[in-house]
Amino acid sequence: MAPTKHKPINSQPHSKNFVKLERGINSISRMKVAIIGAGVAGLAVAIRMACRGHEVEVFEGNAFPGGKLSAFRLGDYRFDAGPSLFTMPSYMEDLYTLAEVPIEAHFSYERLEVVCNYFWEDGTELSAFADPKKLAKELHAKLGVDAKVVDRILSDSQRKYDICGEIFLEKSLHKLSTWMQPKILKAMMLIPTLDLFKSMNKVNSGITDHPKLIQLLNRYATYNGSNPYKAPGLLTVIPHFEYNVGAFVPHGGMNQITQSLFKLAEHKGVQFHFSTPVEEIEMTQGHATGIKVAGVGKKYDTVISNMDVFSTYKKLLPHARHPTRTLAQERSTSAVIFYWGVNREFESLDVHNILFSENYEQEFVAMQSGGIYHDPTVYINITKKYVSADAPSGCENWFVMINAPHRAGQDWDVLIAEARKNIIAKINRILKIDLETLIVQESLLDPRTIESRTSSHLGALYGSSSNNRMAAFMRHANFSSKINDLYFCGGSVHPGGGIPLCLLSAKIVDEIMHE
Ligand code: FAD
Repeated sequence: MAPTKHKPINSQPHSKNFVKLERGINSISRMKVAIIGAGVAGLAVAIRMACRGHEVEVFEGNAFPGGKLSAFRLGDYRFDAGPSLFTMPSYMEDLYTLAEVPIEAHFSYERLEVVCNYFWEDGTELSAFADPKKLAKELHAKLGVDAKVVDRILSDSQRKYDICGEIFLEKSLHKLSTWMQPKILKAMMLIPTLDLFKSMNKVNSGITDHPKLIQLLNRYATYNGSNPYKAPGLLTVIPHFEYNVGAFVPHGGMNQITQSLFKLAEHKGVQFHFSTPVEEIEMTQGHATGIKVAGVGKKYDTVISNMDVFSTYKKLLPHARHPTRTLAQERSTSAVIFYWGVNREFESLDVHNILFSENYEQEFVAMQSGGIYHDPTVYINITKKYVSADAPSGCENWFVMINAPHRAGQDWDVLIAEARKNIIAKINRILKIDLETLIVQESLLDPRTIESRTSSHLGALYGSSSNNRMAAFMRHANFSSKINDLYFCGGSVHPGGGIPLCLLSAKIVDEIMHE
């Protein structure tokens, strides 16, 4: 099947049925704020600014909100375009609480009982239950792993989060006030226990010697586009979010995150300008004083960029001094995604499914040198499992993703054609089907289109990678130290990529701006 071009759905602004609970204007003076980009962080920061009583306008290059977090239709099939895993819903709830709007009427979600189904080529299959007891039982039954191992993994993950989560994720690392907190001293003293100096693979290999469980645990590095054989062991904190807090699905699909935040922002008075790319950030005497749109300058007191920080400097601030070392950080991995409308249902598959590579380490070696491994780990997400309208009866909407390197001069048409063949062959082997005959709709997303649709430098999914143990400190701050009144939010700046961290970046911008 030739890939079909798709149009985003739910793309037009409309705000309805909100309970009117207006918040008094904060004591800080009312500012005119321009936000560049309506990605999830741009929407969140717009809501926060409006709740402060500021006059807020969002300029978005696309005709729809959400950036990577959007959706589209292919015939009778609906697809979430980008993110498929929803964690830390409390960060969404924070926004509704702040806006004094009850969340239940506008955004709802449920916790998954099975976080992911895992498949290996030798026929091993297991379900990663959210409940630790059930998970331990399953790992014991399927892999023969001692039940105590699960407890060790999750309690170590939680311990790491408790030590450094609040400080390193919820605060700016570039403000003295963060470093003056009493908690920081405790965290600094405990740094040697955070596994910063070992690789994630080494830490996981110390917890269990079962190669399949190590592979499963190493996979969490890909949640922020990193390589488990290089990334610091501190990333073993990630399972805490998925198991101790939970993996969730928003009712109606992931795009409901975007749609509900967009409506909440409109309800708070934010003005949106779609299909309106910002061409320049205007500066006067070291201050950001406005933006240029369609060749016309517009004055603002503050500018917040939700555009990838690299692209913000290169395209919108060509004459300013650039933080070259920060911008030169290694980019995270990207992905190749096939959206397939499939005319059959599969009982063995759940919402999230992983078909593992036979040699995980080689998969990352191949990516590190700009290629795609011939036996890639295949992720299949099927929202039809909980949103029945997402595919016709008896059919499923398959979002099939493999990790891929960011753009670096590859011939993507060749790489993608080869990857498509290998992915289908792998799915056929493991599920014992002839997938090609079941595909009735098809579309594609790859590093080139990720970059062209969202300005993500080199098509990286999560900004800079976390392969370096200093990565958390090397990410760009949420403000410019050289240009006053210029702030940054989104996956390319502190605290990093992924929906929860993007929502936190908006919170940090709000805090430091009003400090
Ligand atoms: P972006 O989504 O990057 O959007 C930026 C916006 O700015 C875009 O709308 C763009 O059009 C706009 N813009 C750019 N330049 C301009 C300009 N000059 N003028 C006006 N507008 C401009 N995260 C998870 O939490 N869970 C997952 O399962 C997950 N899976 C993913 C799978 C894929 C395939 C992808 C692509 C990403 C995934 N992520 C996941 C990562 C997550 O999607 C991102 O971290 C997050 O959505 C980034 O949001 P953002 O606010 O940084 O903005």
